[in-house]
Amino acid sequence: MISFNKPYLTGKEMHYMYQAVSSCKISGDGIYTKKCHQFFEEKYGFKKVLLTTSCTDALEMAAILLDIKEGDEVIAPSYTFVSTVNAFVLRGAKIVFADSSKDNPNMDVEAIEALITDKTKVILPVHYAGIACDMDKIMQLATKYNLFVIEDAAQAIDSYYRDKPLGSIGHMSAFSFHETKNIISGEGGMLVINDERFIKRAEIIREKGTNRSSFFRGEVDKYGWVDIGSSFLPSDIIAAFLFAQLENLDDIQNKRKQIWNQYYNGLKALQDLHKLKLPHLPNYASNNAHMFFIQCNSLKERTDLIEYLKKDNVYAVFHYLSLHKSPYYNTKHDGRYLIESDNYSDTLLRLPFYYELSDDDIQRINNLIITFYK
Ligand SMILES: *Cc1c(COP(=O)(O)O)cnc(C)c1O
Repeated sequence: MISFNKPYLTGKEMHYMYQAVSSCKISGDGIYTKKCHQFFEEKYGFKKVLLTTSCTDALEMAAILLDIKEGDEVIAPSYTFVSTVNAFVLRGAKIVFADSSKDNPNMDVEAIEALITDKTKVILPVHYAGIACDMDKIMQLATKYNLFVIEDAAQAIDSYYRDKPLGSIGHMSAFSFHETKNIISGEGGMLVINDERFIKRAEIIREKGTNRSSFFRGEVDKYGWVDIGSSFLPSDIIAAFLFAQLENLDDIQNKRKQIWNQYYNGLKALQDLHKLKLPHLPNYASNNAHMFFIQCNSLKERTDLIEYLKKDNVYAVFHYLSLHKSPYYNTKHDGRYLIESDNYSDTLLRLPFYYELSDDDIQRINNLIITFYK
């Protein structure tokens, strides 16, 4: 059987978790959390990194930091995970959904400007599959209309827009270490703050609205309630697990790129015959091999292919149903048709993808797909 996902352990996870436990400091912001913060700040030049318990939490922090309130408008893709926008809905924002681009599921940057009103506060690009959105264009719009940009970089670890790491371009960005991502800690995430104005308050919001972080640095002589906030910081045991992964980042990435390429090369002939579509990477985007997806020609074809693979014990999955049509938001959406988003909802299929997938496994999956299309 080939499952869709399988968490990969690099070897040191248990050891570091044991170390964390032995140190008798297992709440947040211990030694391993600091090591992870330092790793990211040094490797990608992020101005400030704060580990969180999930990417969802990092997005919620961003929404609080931007003082999102009732009536503010946020422009985001409809083809994304619910957390991207839910974080802002929690604070009363109205989501103005943008359609995906024709070439890939990222939001169509050409369509954004027409959606901007005097209530717009944020543009929320999602780098789908770790493939960069056109950030120069998005940042230009943000400057022109005085908006904030929050990157949902949940899938975008170690990926680049031209020579800039994803997550380093918007005012803030959010990453995920959920077990389905490239680098994992079970559940986990981080908030990256590139605009210095938000750093101090971010520490407070992450610590239940207290100035505890300043207190521990000796900057204030007592700590208390100074703002709203919640408990967004993970235990150091989680950070210990994550740090073991980070030490093996290059190995993990190399292996995943190999898997990605084997899928691509094996299925390319089918694309040439117009049987299916493979991922398209714009020339400004790097490939972090977060996932491998194909696009079928119809919902029916995708359903049949999933069944066909399942009969041979290969588990491919689809995801994201357009959020503007969701039971929760469809009555709040302004009624615009988002054709490409719906199209990806119906036709995109994710193939099994994990470190321990063997060459033979991939060959078998490719052969099954080729046979299906004969
Ligand atoms: C995985 C994911 C999230 C949520 O991440 P969590 O760490 O599970 O909260 C948000 N947005 C996108 C695009 C994702 O892929």
